[in-house]
Amino acid sequence: MPNEDIRPSVGLRPVINVSGTMTSLGASIVVTQAIAAMGSILPQFVEINDLQRKASTVIARLTGGEAGFVTASCSAGISLAVAAAITGNDLAAIERLPEVRGDKNEVIVQMGHVVSYGAPVDQAVRLAGGKVVLIGQATSTYRHHLEGAITEKTAAALYVVSHHVVNYGMLSLKEFCEIAHAKGVPVIVDAASEYDLRIFLEQGADLVLYSGHKFLGGPTSGIVAGRKDMVRNTFLQNLGIGRGMKVGKESIFGVMAALEAWETRDHAGIRQREAGYLRLWRDRFDGRPGVKAMIEPDPTNNPLDRLRLTIDQREAHITAWDLADALARGNPPIIVRDHEVEHNYFYLDPCNLHPGEEVIVTARIGEELDRAQASNEIIATSLEDRSRRRFDGLLRWPD
Ligand SMILES: *Cc1c(COP(=O)(O)O)cnc(C)c1O
Repeated sequence: MPNEDIRPSVGLRPVINVSGTMTSLGASIVVTQAIAAMGSILPQFVEINDLQRKASTVIARLTGGEAGFVTASCSAGISLAVAAAITGNDLAAIERLPEVRGDKNEVIVQMGHVVSYGAPVDQAVRLAGGKVVLIGQATSTYRHHLEGAITEKTAAALYVVSHHVVNYGMLSLKEFCEIAHAKGVPVIVDAASEYDLRIFLEQGADLVLYSGHKFLGGPTSGIVAGRKDMVRNTFLQNLGIGRGMKVGKESIFGVMAALEAWETRDHAGIRQREAGYLRLWRDRFDGRPGVKAMIEPDPTNNPLDRLRLTIDQREAHITAWDLADALARGNPPIIVRDHEVEHNYFYLDPCNLHPGEEVIVTARIGEELDRAQASNEIIATSLEDRSRRRFDGLLRWPD
């Protein structure tokens, strides 16, 4: 891998990703089958709708849905699915979006599901002319909230599956579907980052949306699957708002290859390798002064574990966030999963490592912990400053 590493030659830092599948880091390691597929189709002309028909067959086989297609991203899929629920197959209405004639454009979402995956999920709904109707409170939704919100204005109900959502007090997908379907409302599921390609349709979803570039290791893309009429109406949005979300032949063909590779992937072998990294890190760090290391399962039941490193700043002489920042600044830069770092811990995610990188991660964390131990003062910058500086770099971009 290091021999072929293109990054230094174009002036990019060779980051090591122990954060997860992050858009900001380039999502995932694309599987070789998808890379080969993309290279093989790029020089050829194809009839795109036929290629999407082929993709539909593969997506249907893997998801158990009646049909499917490939779009630019899961976020695009949310917008297109909402658009479909509003317009049906009315081509004039499709071209009119985001303007909607009439008022059947409400999309019901549980308040605890309104998350940001780098952009707000409710914006993906509004982009398509949908009007978000929030139900329940941040940490509780009851059946009557959903029942009471459904009217003749309701176009769809959206359900988000993610570690980002509030993970208690929400309606289960089964209940959500049962209540929505009793009143003829279709259910769209955002399952961007979930491994199980079948369960959400099995539990009653009419449409399910995945990212092609997360666990699947496909090119940047989104996968739409489910009921044929709704998939078709979602596909038709390519004549409208979907144009700005288009994918080319390479992404469609790349996703097909990634899905086929998924069918034959050695899932148990990969899990075992990742478990080895986690044990290595736990054994190396647990019990160091001020450090607790624990292996934890994924919060949405994906078949993967992560290492939680909890840092006691008085004993480790460094805060969890200063350690995370030092690793990100270091050489090579190591990006940890730090979205809960104010609670004095971060995670190491083993899913996006090239073999050998686990050793570099071990060494770099060890170095930073040693340096902090040796320091007379506790390395503790203020969390408020960190928060204030959060978007500084972006606001200066491209400088
Ligand atoms: C990543 C993610 C998205 C966005 O997926 P893209 O394919 O990157 O647009 C949407 N929802 C959830 C829950 C996600 O985790």
